Amino acid sequence: MRCHLVTLGCAKNLADSEGIGVLLTEAGHHLVETPDRAEVIIVNTCGFLQPAREEAISVLRELSAGKEAGQLLVAAGCMIEGYADQLQQAVSGLDGLIGTRQWTEMPNFLAELARRKPEDRWQPYVRPPSERNHVADSVSRQAQGTTAYLKIADGCSAPCAFCTIPAIKGSQRSKPPRHVLAEARQLAEQGVQEIVLVAQDLTAYGRDRGEKDALPPLLDALVEAVPTVPWIRLLYAYPGHVSDRLIETIAQHEQICNYLDMPLQHASESVLKRMRRPHNMERVRRFYESLRRTVPDVALRTTFIVGYPGETETEFQELLDFMAEVRFDRVGIFPYSQEPGTPAADLAGQVPDEIKQERHERAMLWQQSISLSRNQEQVGRVYLVLVDGAGDGISLCRSYRDAPEVDGFVVVEGTLPLGQFVRVRIAGAMEYDLLGEPEARAAGG
Ligand code: SF4
Repeated sequence: MRCHLVTLGCAKNLADSEGIGVLLTEAGHHLVETPDRAEVIIVNTCGFLQPAREEAISVLRELSAGKEAGQLLVAAGCMIEGYADQLQQAVSGLDGLIGTRQWTEMPNFLAELARRKPEDRWQPYVRPPSERNHVADSVSRQAQGTTAYLKIADGCSAPCAFCTIPAIKGSQRSKPPRHVLAEARQLAEQGVQEIVLVAQDLTAYGRDRGEKDALPPLLDALVEAVPTVPWIRLLYAYPGHVSDRLIETIAQHEQICNYLDMPLQHASESVLKRMRRPHNMERVRRFYESLRRTVPDVALRTTFIVGYPGETETEFQELLDFMAEVRFDRVGIFPYSQEPGTPAADLAGQVPDEIKQERHERAMLWQQSISLSRNQEQVGRVYLVLVDGAGDGISLCRSYRDAPEVDGFVVVEGTLPLGQFVRVRIAGAMEYDLLGEPEARAAGG
């Protein structure tokens, strides 16, 4: 069948979609670029937060309205785990629903859909939920460009009170190292220049098998397995699981980007306790100090939630003070979303929406000035950048400081070769992006 895949949500969903694409191709299906050419349209949804669920409904409604005779519309992904009924009520014209824990079953699911008798097709076919997620299965990779996400685990066993992920994805399962290395080798053979390691919590890798701090040895093995991949990037570390050994591993290997994304969610210990998150901020401070001492040019990214139940103005100010103290290079800031079924949803002291929004704006502005001054410190430095896109007389590039999709760009005038590394000198700074000149041009060459 001709299949068109739509991906919503985060990098982990993108990695799943890529895997679904490979499985479908291996099963004899063909991927097509546009929905109008497809016999089956599959939407890999995100169900993490209310706005993501609203987006999924709106995309599915639009596709359903444009459905042609005989075309099948399948809703897949996170939203199916827990919100399948809501989705069926909100979107007419769905032919099938299959949850994120079963994405490796997609070819069988399509075969089941195709076998359905016409008299059964008045209602969508819902694949019964699975207890397990399928991350541990080995999947061949087909790189879509020069950057590829590699999921090393899925699900989460952390108790964060605001988060729906454990209910959606189940507890954590780590992919065996041999599968991680095999996938990485395939990506390297396909010319990938940057492998971005993702999981709900990268630093919990191996804990489901009783191994502690198993990420550093995996990184050692990865570096050896794919010596031709210049960048290996780490997203999503957990403050309770990072270690000195991880810092040493980042410092030791040139291929591992001097970049760490560690979502902290807040900086006030009392809020963190209510969030059921690691709340020893002295430990977090010591970790960052040690990381910056050992890897002086490390770029730090984090995320924070503002307006969590019971958050006082003093606790919010603690967060702003901490942001000014650490001076993160990148920060994602989100107003708290009251998610049904989570312990936080039932906490007393829900913060009114207008206060959440006001704190969100204040925190964003606060970080903008920090990010601008961090960026201004880069002016005059020379970076190796990967060319991500070009058009309208400019090229959008990323240095090791910039993760794909979530961070800024180094913007360079002119058209640089896509997917290649170029040395640029930083000539100017904005809040989120930098301006660069190819080194030869900057030197008058
Ligand atoms: S560690 Fe992340 S994914 Fe896991 S429960 Fe906490 S917020 Fe959710």
